[in-house]
Amino acid sequence: HETLDTALAEAWIRAAAAAVGRTEEQLTALDAAIGDGDHGSNLRRGFTAVLAALDDAGSDGSAGFDSAGALLRTVGSTLLAKVGGASGPLYGQAFRVAGAELPPDAGPAACADALAAGLAAVRALGGAEPGDKTMVDALAPAVDALRTAAAAGAALAGATAAAADAAEQGARATTPLQARRGRASYLGPRSVGHQDPGATSAALIVRALADAAA
Ligand code: ADP
Ligand code: MG
Ligand code: MG
Repeated sequence: HETLDTALAEAWIRAAAAAVGRTEEQLTALDAAIGDGDHGSNLRRGFTAVLAALDDAGSDGSAGFDSAGALLRTVGSTLLAKVGGASGPLYGQAFRVAGAELPPDAGPAACADALAAGLAAVRALGGAEPGDKTMVDALAPAVDALRTAAAAGAALAGATAAAADAAEQGARATTPLQARRGRASYLGPRSVGHQDPGATSAALIVRALADAAA
């Protein structure tokens, strides 16, 4: 895949749904430690509905989604509608805004711009800064790595792999932080020593893009 076309967007989201299914218990265990233990089930419910929406799109004999952006906007609307909790509106808005920003057949630089717009939407909605121990701590380094790789002339596969590496490193780096947003912040210093569930799921969603693009 040289660009994020409609087929790659669909492969990405199906890979993300599969990854959420595989890691549901791990995400829920992370959230049980510093939240209310529903992050895995929240995302599984959301991505199950997303898969149904993808299956539905072409089932009337139409061509399905006519762009990657349209597909990602539907992913966002579905997550907004189906996922309760903090992560539903945040991921929902991120996919809606990124989808609205994404031009057809985007290369690495345009993908970085769309992901940056999604990150800005998360930050506008949730008020989290980098270092607050949230999904922002995985998404912000992913945007930076994608931008840097794009500027260096990397192809989409390499650029998204660099973004996924950065997201995973960012998620791991939330462990020693004290949470300043979301339910984990209610624990104060007791939130230290646990990896943030939303940063963990954000990294696996970025990894799913890299896997699909490889
Ligand atoms: P809830 O906390 O409502 O049960 P989830 O468990 O599904 O929702 O999601 C929790 C995750 O959402 C956290 O681990 C964190 O990464 C993310 N999150 C919570 N609040 C915010 C916020 N204000 N900004 C960014 N991310 C947030
Ligand atoms: Mg929760
Ligand atoms: Mg909850």
